Amino acid sequence: MKKGVPVSPGVAIARAYRIEDTLIQHAPAHIDTTAVVAELTRFDNACAAVVAELDAVVERVSREVSEDAASIFRAHRLLVRDPALVSKVKSYIQSYHFDATTALQETLAEYSALFARIPDEYLRERMADIRDVITRLIAHLNVQSGKRLAPPDEPVILVAPEILPSQAVMFEGLPIAGIVTESGGSTGHAAILARALGIPAVSGIRGVVQAVANGDRVILDGREGHLIINPGPEVESAYRKLQREYVDLRDKLIVNADLPAHSRDGVEFALLANANNLADATTASRVGAVGVGLFRTEYLFLTHTSVPDEEEQYAAYRAIIEAAPNRTVTIRTLDLGGDKQVPYLGTHQEANPFMGWRSIRLASAYPEFFQTQLRAILRAGQHGQVGIMFPMISTVEEVQRIKRMVERTRLSLLRAGIAFGEDIPLGVMIEVPSAALCIEAILDEVEFISIGSNDLIQYVMAADRDNPKVAHLCEPFAPAIFRLVAQVLHACQQQNKPVTLCGEMASRPRCVVALMGMGLRRVSMSPAFIPTIKQVVRAFSVEEAEAIADEVLALRTTSEIRTLLTNIVQSRCPDIALLDTIK
Ligand code: PEP
Ligand code: MG
Repeated sequence: MKKGVPVSPGVAIARAYRIEDTLIQHAPAHIDTTAVVAELTRFDNACAAVVAELDAVVERVSREVSEDAASIFRAHRLLVRDPALVSKVKSYIQSYHFDATTALQETLAEYSALFARIPDEYLRERMADIRDVITRLIAHLNVQSGKRLAPPDEPVILVAPEILPSQAVMFEGLPIAGIVTESGGSTGHAAILARALGIPAVSGIRGVVQAVANGDRVILDGREGHLIINPGPEVESAYRKLQREYVDLRDKLIVNADLPAHSRDGVEFALLANANNLADATTASRVGAVGVGLFRTEYLFLTHTSVPDEEEQYAAYRAIIEAAPNRTVTIRTLDLGGDKQVPYLGTHQEANPFMGWRSIRLASAYPEFFQTQLRAILRAGQHGQVGIMFPMISTVEEVQRIKRMVERTRLSLLRAGIAFGEDIPLGVMIEVPSAALCIEAILDEVEFISIGSNDLIQYVMAADRDNPKVAHLCEPFAPAIFRLVAQVLHACQQQNKPVTLCGEMASRPRCVVALMGMGLRRVSMSPAFIPTIKQVVRAFSVEEAEAIADEVLALRTTSEIRTLLTNIVQSRCPDIALLDTIK
């Protein structure tokens, strides 16, 4: 058994699918001169099969995810037919008598060397598409020769060194039962996507890509962070039982979608959903969320090959608003940078990307671009109850500057006679310690606050949220985190301003109990966790939670806090413990 960082709860039992495995294993091979024609035909057949496969992927992704995500696969389909690529592979077969797989590998090596010399980052990044297409072609050739797995057509457990957010958005709607990676933390963006999709995931298992062979049977326990390769029948049947319990429990909880989110003593809580795309907003309605508390607009940009224009953004935001429960959505402006890069804004190598030119810093450096987004959001705002939220605020001056930009944008829409939502409240995310420490001054400037605990934790603890080596520090149960969050909540109460917590902490039952006692009444999380959190809220009275919060705030160590909260939640709602990661 291998142990990693538990990222997304649940049990998956399926065959391993190693990303890029097909490229790693093939030894160069030559063919006879007499076999050249047959090899060319084999290559043509693989191209035809990949085009057909991409047709199906485009159809499925556009139906289940979005048109934007599907456009990535449309581009891949064009690449399979690209004359330059095809003739290069064929010339390797004809002139060097390589088999088709080796010819593709040679082509890939040649393109990689060529692209590495291109100064333009955007063009250089296109190499990823070529690599993807060549991987698919090789996978098909291998299937034809009976050697390896096809790209997943049955649920598989993905095994990869790491998964970037831009790759993860492509998984939606695909048959992925679980995800195991070597790097990535429990609140990294790939983890957030896994949680949003309800896919069990474990990260931080070093060497896993080498340890697992394509097609191995694996069990993944996303709650404990365990991975078992080729288990015996007893182990597999024990995990099947656990898997059933988990699924039964989730099914049982979904029935509470219509119950009010009231504490035991009748205090009302607002359970909101985090949405990265339209599918999440639709799920939010199904699971009983009362609105979307965080719409991460950057996923729209991550699935695009160029900046989406105002009309496209307006249509996307409007669709989210119309799909959201009660048409209530807090739209967050672009939060790119860190590990979320789009080549068309120019990627920038930085020593510390999470502390660098990220998020609102990047947005204000491109005022025109930022204003286009603001125009689109303001216009979409007329279709529902919309708030605009700005991420990664560090100073009061930043808030003042952004407010001026919003004002200018409003005026320009007004002058142009373009309809937009009036009285749209403006809020900021508290995810940088400096903002948390100056919360009173920031509250004077805005109408609401949302605590982004994922970033707040990484910045308070100086522990990268994506680095499993420091996962033990990137920890919601740390005393420093509860103390700081309690201060922010208190300040918001004093000024009577709404405050939501929208990081992954909001979906952790043990954290929510303590936060209830600290005065939190609004939480926003991946829709999959809403039924669980509703169960937790309903199981405790605010009075009880206040006593628990007092105890938590008096403790000095992370492990004491974790033990206290684990015991409390386990004894009050034992089954709920199954729906949280162990960490
Ligand atoms: C957060 O930091 O807690 C947050 C909600 O924003 P993101 O996870 O998108 O950085
Ligand atoms: Mg954040």
